[in-house]
Amino acid sequence: MKHPAILVLFCLPVCFAYPLNGAVREKDPSTDLVQQYLENYYDLAKDVKQCVRRRHSGPVVKKIREMQKFLGLEVTGKLDPDTLVMIRRPRCSVPDVGQFTTFPGLPKWRKTHLTYRIVNYTLDLPREAVDSAFEKAPKAWEEVTPLTFSKIYEGEADIMIFFAVREHGDFIPFDGSGNVLAHAYPPGPSLDGDVHFDDDELWREDKSGTNLFLVAAHELGHSLGLYHSADPTALMYPVYNPRTDLTRFRLAQDDVNGIQSLYGPPPMSSPDGPAGPTESVPPEPGTPATCDPALSFDAVSSLRGEILFFKDRYFWRRSRWHLEPEFHLISTFWPSLPSGLDAAYEVNNEDTVFVFKGNHFWAIRGTEVQAGYPKDIHTPGFPPALGKIDAAVSDEEKKKMYLFVEDKYWRFDENSQSMEQVFPRQTADDFPGVGPKVDAVFQEFGFFYFFRGPLQFEFDPNAKMVTHVLKSNNWLYC
Ligand SMILES: [Zn+2]
Ligand SMILES: [Zn+2]
Repeated sequence: MKHPAILVLFCLPVCFAYPLNGAVREKDPSTDLVQQYLENYYDLAKDVKQCVRRRHSGPVVKKIREMQKFLGLEVTGKLDPDTLVMIRRPRCSVPDVGQFTTFPGLPKWRKTHLTYRIVNYTLDLPREAVDSAFEKAPKAWEEVTPLTFSKIYEGEADIMIFFAVREHGDFIPFDGSGNVLAHAYPPGPSLDGDVHFDDDELWREDKSGTNLFLVAAHELGHSLGLYHSADPTALMYPVYNPRTDLTRFRLAQDDVNGIQSLYGPPPMSSPDGPAGPTESVPPEPGTPATCDPALSFDAVSSLRGEILFFKDRYFWRRSRWHLEPEFHLISTFWPSLPSGLDAAYEVNNEDTVFVFKGNHFWAIRGTEVQAGYPKDIHTPGFPPALGKIDAAVSDEEKKKMYLFVEDKYWRFDENSQSMEQVFPRQTADDFPGVGPKVDAVFQEFGFFYFFRGPLQFEFDPNAKMVTHVLKSNNWLYC
């Protein structure tokens, strides 16, 4: 159970910010500013206000030093020019210090699939631009955790997102243009997990105003249970950084470490495949090298005569017409798909590729993710006890679809549109030489090509035998 004080502590510093301006009659505006900043974000008690004016001594100096240390400034304890510049920069209104870190049981989601809903839209941007920012922001976190997100259009989502100005119903009013940009609540029911954006900012897709994607990705970090980081390269650094490279945006290692401390890394594609360097891969998935002899795949599928090899957040596209396989980010083609897919297969006569991750699956047609997806795999038609799917393939000729899970497989009859009765069966019994467990499979030239770690098994379904053992990246001209 979460301690209700967590919410109060998130709220307190900002609630204090408001009356202060009117109450202080000091001439030097920077003194007020720093007083307010320390109260808002560094938990400076209100009654030490006087100290700011008295030669910056005692607890205030201590707080200034604390702030300078956190924000990566030179620790002088004085209001030097760098410090004054820093406190005028726009930022998130969640504090940089807070006793909440000392509460037992850091709040986190107890499930891995989360929903979000955009309750209203800013007029600063076209709707599609807002949708796109909130589609991209969860992906930054999905790539490095087992978490997946989907958007809902009505009802209560885990993460409710809205734009508002000034007082907006949670007793943490926004402050007009500049300074505070947004805030978010830690994981939990109702208001918790929600993200509010100050609509007095000028929200932009690029950097001509405040970049919505950057702020959304940061606030989402709070919605997932992360607090601020003192690492200036981190997304969770409290101050907005307009110099962030948006074209090559990715989380800093510090963000990855933080979120993985709560949720762990994304599931690896072949935990019990042949021993390989997958064990020692750093938490942040690097760019896989095409001809790495240890390369394994998450999922492989045909698509309109091409073959797609999925790995982490990337895929290779092997077409018959180009000698060099193309290498892309999954998000470039399908922004709403997660990374680290489990399985994929094409149903040729429907011109549809189904991709699986965790309990969810998506239908894609070309570069379009079909409406109504993701769907839950625990729906009628799928085996009720189905766990995470390792590999899937559709046999076009026999009109059968295979789902491989651990050391078993199920078979779906496309003519009768139902799972066949005698399944699951042991993969090793019916596909001798390839199992017991596989990472990926696809069909080509009448053969099944199974992938297990860095190896690939060409299997003849008529002869029921492995006809070739190849390197997994054999198709990529290695
Ligand atoms: Zn923040
Ligand atoms: Zn709010």
